Amino acid sequence: MAVFPIYNILVVPDAYIYFKAEYYRQYAGKPPVQDEKVILIVAKEDLPRTELTNDSFYPIGLSGVITEVSDNGFVVIRTKNRVNIDDVAVYRDHTIDLSISRRRDIDDLEPEEDAQKLAGVKKALKEFSENFRWASAAKRYIENWDSIGEAAVVMSPWMQNSNAERYAILAEDSRKKRAEMLERIIYENLEMNKVNQEAAQAQEEDHQKLYRENAIRKQMEYLQRELDELHPEEVTDLRKLEIKIEEAGMNETALKEAQKVLGRLKHEGQNSAESALLYDYLDFLTSLPWKKEKAKDIDLDEAEKVLDEDHFGLKKVKERIIQQIAVMSLKRQQAGSILLFVGAPGTGKTSIGQSIAKALQREYVRVSLGGVRDEADIRGHRRTYIGAMPGRIMDGIQKSGVSNPVMVLDEVDKLYGSYNGDPASALLEVLDPEQNSTFTDHYLNVPFDLSNVMFICTANSLDTIPEPLLNRMEVIQFQGYTPTEKFQIARRHLLPKALKAVGLKENQVVVTDEALEQIISDYTREGGVRGLKKRMDTLCRTAAVQLVRGKGKVLRVTPKKLREVLDMAPLHHRQVPESAKPGVVTGLAWTSVGGEILYIETMLTRGAGKLIITGQLGDVMKESAQIAVSLVKSYFPEQAEVFEKNDLHIHVPDGATPKDGPSAGITLTTALASLVTEKPVSPAVAMTGEVSLRGGVNPIGGLPEKLMAAQRAGVKKVFIPAQNKEDLRDVAQEVKDQLEIVPVSEVSDVLKALKLQVKAPAKKKNA
Ligand code: ADP
Repeated sequence: MAVFPIYNILVVPDAYIYFKAEYYRQYAGKPPVQDEKVILIVAKEDLPRTELTNDSFYPIGLSGVITEVSDNGFVVIRTKNRVNIDDVAVYRDHTIDLSISRRRDIDDLEPEEDAQKLAGVKKALKEFSENFRWASAAKRYIENWDSIGEAAVVMSPWMQNSNAERYAILAEDSRKKRAEMLERIIYENLEMNKVNQEAAQAQEEDHQKLYRENAIRKQMEYLQRELDELHPEEVTDLRKLEIKIEEAGMNETALKEAQKVLGRLKHEGQNSAESALLYDYLDFLTSLPWKKEKAKDIDLDEAEKVLDEDHFGLKKVKERIIQQIAVMSLKRQQAGSILLFVGAPGTGKTSIGQSIAKALQREYVRVSLGGVRDEADIRGHRRTYIGAMPGRIMDGIQKSGVSNPVMVLDEVDKLYGSYNGDPASALLEVLDPEQNSTFTDHYLNVPFDLSNVMFICTANSLDTIPEPLLNRMEVIQFQGYTPTEKFQIARRHLLPKALKAVGLKENQVVVTDEALEQIISDYTREGGVRGLKKRMDTLCRTAAVQLVRGKGKVLRVTPKKLREVLDMAPLHHRQVPESAKPGVVTGLAWTSVGGEILYIETMLTRGAGKLIITGQLGDVMKESAQIAVSLVKSYFPEQAEVFEKNDLHIHVPDGATPKDGPSAGITLTTALASLVTEKPVSPAVAMTGEVSLRGGVNPIGGLPEKLMAAQRAGVKKVFIPAQNKEDLRDVAQEVKDQLEIVPVSEVSDVLKALKLQVKAPAKKKNA
């Protein structure tokens, strides 16, 4: 006797049931043997034979005999009667031992009723099978059934009833009730199938509709295209947009968005208020350079030549740029580290950006960020805003027309945070190589790849650039030009360009060397060459007027004529005065337009120890003044009471210009020392350096610009912080040649050098 555990299979007495031989072997634990007696028992869970236990089974089973083991892998079991499973024993080797007893049916089913039910089921099944191609074969098969149980068993693989429901039928003792249960599940499942079939049919109809619609649409598009070709002048705006969308080469997200918006535009009709916005959006989206540009091979020598041709000097800057180009070309990248050009206006920061583009044979675009307060200026407005616009970055990309321009972001030091978000952090996202390949402008609403853009930023000073932004960039200083350099720049670049701009030939404006030198020294006051460029332009315009009026073909510019030709008074250049007065000392300042000299004036007036400070000094400078007072009191203890009996007034002239920073500390201290010792300091001696309360001199910034300003103003000797000695390498030789530069580490060294310590210094007091 074989024990055959089954699961989720409908079994009834007196029926032929088919199993796959393999299935039988697996669950019965041995191959089927013809004529062997089999007990089918119903497992509660779907478990492999090896995991079955004594408790795995329901208490009622079914006996049967294997009547056939077919060659094509089927086992046929003829079931007999139901049995009670009185005891189950599952052994270690997974064999199952049963003790069983016969379970009798309640014989309450009338033969007529049985026949009637069977006839009904047969009819219903035949009708159902009408829907299928195999209907005629099925009908013959159905005819042969002689019990409702047989019908149910055949249908059972397609039935959706659970294992428990199926077992409940087997466990039912009443034959009448069992027949009713079988009848019910047959009809239920038939209905379910019908519903499914209807649903499937409906779905199919839907699909067909969709296929048809698509086919019609394709056909329409085709016909429309034919029409467009016949009448290109009549292509509608919508169609033009459609063509643009097709041809733009957008990424997938962008294409989807474009099609969505196009759909809405079609739906809106062309005259609604909304449609103009949608139209503008699509117009912008499709005009962006979606296609990727390939990296070009760059000849370094050629690139260097281009840079040299356009700009005079700037040796270090050019060197650094060439390095960058070399690295990019080595790594076959279109963008490298982000360069930040820092320096006074007119030092060539923007225009060298343009030359870099030329050297790389790439497009150039300049995006000005000066005064930007709103994050939306960088990242765009959401389209839900009225008057929404793309941000400046995407606008620049569109203007450049390529995906890999050299983009100069001008004046990154003039971004301001406000209640409308922080533009600097938006910019950070633009510049971050980790993020900028999917930069999403709010207006655009789809990502755009900025990773091939070469970004160059410019700034006048580093002070106002937020730290995180600064960390992203590599700072390159533009020092400003010496008069000699300016002279060369004017001769080689500015004048020829100005001539060309007004349409004059080279020999039609002749500027003598002396005149040019005088323009530089008396008609400009700057670290860069912007003013100089304007003067050259003026000369050429004057010449043009003269020429057109027939007053002469050549304009000769000599120093004498400058006042008239330039039509401006010479600029008042701050020059150091001849005479010296105690309490007044020359300092050096650094402003965003370059270096400047300034005077610190001090004076004692009758009073009671008040400190008066004027000249628009910032907080840091005021603190330096207080340190200076304390230091001088300690250096000159005998004079200390002068400060108590008098008021001290410190003034820095040119009151309209705000001044701040710690670098005037050394000058303030010296001025006060000169005041109390009543010894004048020559105005041709200048100094710069921060001073600590211990009298140490700390380093300062902007040394090259300051020294240039000193030399320009006629200063002969400059004290600088010893720690700034390294910076002297960046100072032009012609400036160094004309100045005596004295590095100091203590402010007392300055006082000593200027012979201001006649009286005993502070240290002696303690000794
Ligand atoms: P910045 O961006 O630093 O304010 P620009 O790049 O606008 O300065 O320069 C102002 C003008 O001066 C431009 O016309 C530029 O070509 C010219 N210029 C500046 N530096 C040089 C230089 N080294 N050689 C030739 N021309 C220069």
